[in-house]
Amino acid sequence: MSAYAELIEKIQSAAGRMRDPETGRPLSKTGQLGAIDVSGTIATCTIKLSTHSAPVRDEYAESVVEAIRVAAPELTEVKVLVETLDRPPATIGQVGLTIKSVIAVGSGKGGVGKSTLAASIALSLEKAGATVGLMDADVYGPSIPHLLGLSGRPEIQNGKIVPIYAGRMPVMSMGFLVEKDQAVIWRGPMLHGAINQFLKDTYWGQLDYLIIDMPPGTGDIALTLSQMLPLSGAVVVCTPQEVALLDAVKAIAMFNKTQIPVLGIVENMSGFVCPDCGKQYDIFGRGGARDKATELHVPFLGEVPLNISLRQQSDQGGLAQALEEPICHAAMDRIVRALVRELARRAALAPISAPLPVL
Ligand code: ADP
Repeated sequence: MSAYAELIEKIQSAAGRMRDPETGRPLSKTGQLGAIDVSGTIATCTIKLSTHSAPVRDEYAESVVEAIRVAAPELTEVKVLVETLDRPPATIGQVGLTIKSVIAVGSGKGGVGKSTLAASIALSLEKAGATVGLMDADVYGPSIPHLLGLSGRPEIQNGKIVPIYAGRMPVMSMGFLVEKDQAVIWRGPMLHGAINQFLKDTYWGQLDYLIIDMPPGTGDIALTLSQMLPLSGAVVVCTPQEVALLDAVKAIAMFNKTQIPVLGIVENMSGFVCPDCGKQYDIFGRGGARDKATELHVPFLGEVPLNISLRQQSDQGGLAQALEEPICHAAMDRIVRALVRELARRAALAPISAPLPVL
């Protein structure tokens, strides 16, 4: 074999062994390894990734570069080009959704910023290039429409609910169906029915991610969801104080009981950087969630600092604009990358996803 052919083969096997972040399967097995060119000691390798992997696209390409460098140290330059792979989602669950990953965002108690984080995760995944939907299952206090500045009543077309769109993102919430400030009392079966309808009868289309804002604390909706479709997992939001962390531990226990894997913890309201003097004040403490995550062997996904303009803008429906600011953008970017990395880690461990048993 010529030295050139040998080099191509080394690159091919190093890149081909890398696991696709979405399916967990080697790139060589999924047709995601494209052309390899070598010119002198410079190699260019093309790979294909789906939009589901868009948030980790750059870091993944970097890891492929690294793998090739290790396999072929004689190369002086390695370039990995990423093309977009068109891979539509399969149908999941008994409700027949065409969604790749369904992620619940929960918390042990209210007021910790769970809805803010659910909407921010959805917006940040979309900004990174994924197709995303957002379902507000916090039927006791649906705040997603308010945070995103959305109003209107969903129309029914061909027996399906047409969601309200935040740009390209379909959003469904009880907030669109009940009058503002109206208290809603839910009986168990009605609650089950409403969640069922939100999932099954809403025209979600094809999505990489559906983010679900869960009601705080209670386990009934988690149970309903886990019976209806295979959830990829849950993100637990908490603040750094000890009492809030105890609630987060309860939320993790609740997800464990309903067989929903916990993908990680996010610490919200983690420190406050004074806009006037730039000094950091740890009002509720800081880092408690990271320690708790380590203790519970749950990934720590990141932290979002207390931010006055985040609160002011989201109270006026401008959460998407607030996320453009560098501090929020950097925090959310880290969180969604850690989240997608955790999904990739799980996909690699269990490449063939088994549906959850119906209880
Ligand atoms: P939950 O869903 O847990 O009840 P929300 O997402 O509705 O909490 O947030 C409660 C309040 O806290 C809202 O007014 C929101 O704007 C504010 N908030 C959330 N996260 C932050 C943050 N990191 N900095 C400043 N205010 C925040």
